[in-house]
Amino acid sequence: MIGLISATAAGAVAAQRLASAWPERTRLYEGPVRDAVGRAFGECEQVVCFLATGAVVRLIAPLLADKATDPGVVCVDEGGRFAVSLVGGHAGGANALAVEVGEVLGAEPVVTTATDAVGVPGLDTLGMPVEGDVAGVSRALLDGEDVELDLEIAWPLPALPPNVRRPAPDAPAERGGPAIVVTDRVPAGGRVSGPEETLGTDRAGVTEETLGTGLAAGTEEPLGTGLASVTEETPPAGRPGDAGEPLGAVPHRGAGDARVVLRPPSLVVGVGASRGAPADEVLGLIESALRDAGLSPRSLAELATVDAKADEPGLVEAAARLGVPVVTHSAEELAAVEVPNPSDAPLAAVGTPSVAEAAALVGGGELLVPKRKSERADGRPAMATCAVVRRPARGRLAVVGLGPGARDLLTPRAKAELRRASVLVGLDQYVDQIRDLLRPGTRILESGLGAEEERARTAVAEARRGQAVALIGSGDAGVYAMASPALAEASDDIDVIGVPGVTAALAAAAILGAPLGHDHVSISLSDLHTPWEVIERRVRAAAEADIVVTFYNPRSRGRDWQLPKALAILAGHREPTTPVGVVRNASRPDGSHRLTTLAALDPATVDMMTVVTVGNTATREIAGRMVTPRGYRWQENPEGAE
Ligand code: SAH
Repeated sequence: MIGLISATAAGAVAAQRLASAWPERTRLYEGPVRDAVGRAFGECEQVVCFLATGAVVRLIAPLLADKATDPGVVCVDEGGRFAVSLVGGHAGGANALAVEVGEVLGAEPVVTTATDAVGVPGLDTLGMPVEGDVAGVSRALLDGEDVELDLEIAWPLPALPPNVRRPAPDAPAERGGPAIVVTDRVPAGGRVSGPEETLGTDRAGVTEETLGTGLAAGTEEPLGTGLASVTEETPPAGRPGDAGEPLGAVPHRGAGDARVVLRPPSLVVGVGASRGAPADEVLGLIESALRDAGLSPRSLAELATVDAKADEPGLVEAAARLGVPVVTHSAEELAAVEVPNPSDAPLAAVGTPSVAEAAALVGGGELLVPKRKSERADGRPAMATCAVVRRPARGRLAVVGLGPGARDLLTPRAKAELRRASVLVGLDQYVDQIRDLLRPGTRILESGLGAEEERARTAVAEARRGQAVALIGSGDAGVYAMASPALAEASDDIDVIGVPGVTAALAAAAILGAPLGHDHVSISLSDLHTPWEVIERRVRAAAEADIVVTFYNPRSRGRDWQLPKALAILAGHREPTTPVGVVRNASRPDGSHRLTTLAALDPATVDMMTVVTVGNTATREIAGRMVTPRGYRWQENPEGAE
């Protein structure tokens, strides 16, 4: 039981949030704080105090006896910003609890125990369902214990700390100790939860039975060694975010046996259905196909069928109840897929000799359950068919813009992607910019300037090996940066996620004022990859069209004539007094900027760390800031335009 103690209104609200997230695990202690802490300390395995650490230290000091038996204590500050593991970090489970409390309250867990496992990803935040003793394995991770990783299915996981290890190939099958198992299988004897149980707020209570080395039902393939045998029960009062079992509530033979099973979205079920096929029949068919093959419904990624069945109600409802999308393919596409069991009926009805098998196999993969038909109690002909395929694991390539430099201009999404990666690829100076954010265990592949193509190739190759890769670039990674060379290399066998970043033109504009208030363009003056004639043609076009221009890569030691030339072209169409903003190292500690004019700008003061923004004929300097009006009509009639 976790005792909750608060003294203020804000503390009471936060305590209530925890209590409603974990109704079975928590108890609220009311009354005078000293008294409440005393009772909770005696009655609970863990205590969360919504009080200042100083107050808690004084209150519990006289109660502390032995770290093996004292409860773990976590403090949450008045603002709900931090969940501090105060005492009992290991034995009392306070480190793991701080992480869990942090997840529920949106607070930063503060763990001061000296272990290099800090920075461990929450096992329930890996983007896939998790079953088993989350708290126990989290605790083992945080404690730096050896945790075994059984990747029965290769799936792109974030970096896991160094104490997580793949078992040696010749390791004995019967091994104890905490483990993370990545699998879509339910071992023989495990009950596959029904479709209702996989809906919405599912998280089955999981009881460990044996450390099986058994065979999966219906196959002759040995399972990954040391796979936990899980029996799924109806969830007690499961709810999202209720990540951990109460410590000690899951019966297992000792702390060393803590196991979690991660369910990657690896299975595609192909479904064919006659018009009017009832949802229950479709669901029953899918459920029995998975059960007989020893597969977990939690690993279902999608329900695939032919275009003509996109709106078939029974199918749509079955997918909704399974919590997966319906993905459809044209009959033509399906007809081209080679399948073991083609037949004439679908050929006549929808124009392909196979729907279930072909739809499941479209993206490649291994056919685990060949076509089977539904069974009807009334003996009438089956109205649904299904087939199950395990898709090939897809690596993940996140192309992440880091922003112009300042940490607070790095987006939260970029940060999350950096922590989601197990491999980081980038220019050494950018890696330095974010090294502290990476999870321990992240493999870093850094290279120097000029190795763009090699970086792009490496990143794609790692993703194709099934890794979660982050390819980083400053500013926006798609602007004169790594996204294009990487995507030019990448085929459709990996997932690509783009994370936008604040590009230099925007970072500079915010410093200068509002120079980009009307149409604007960015032009790189680097003729390394682009012939000068092309660059000049674009500068000329911008000049003639009276567009605000931001020059990237304006000038380097070996490239000094391009900027004066480009400015001269613009000067042919703009007044010498046109404002020009020069921003060097925007948002970095040694940043500087100045506002000058076309006539007064000395190109020699510009270097590669700089962007140069040249106004259009309407741009003005107002109160020391560079402002491009949104248009004359707007100025005359502010109500009339947006
Ligand atoms: N992907 C980057 C641009 C890479 S090209 C982005 O989106 O910002 C490199 C050029 O960007 C540099 O020569 C410079 O002109 C500009 N640049 C990048 N960061 C900058 C910063 N913090 N301040 C000023 N200019 C910057």
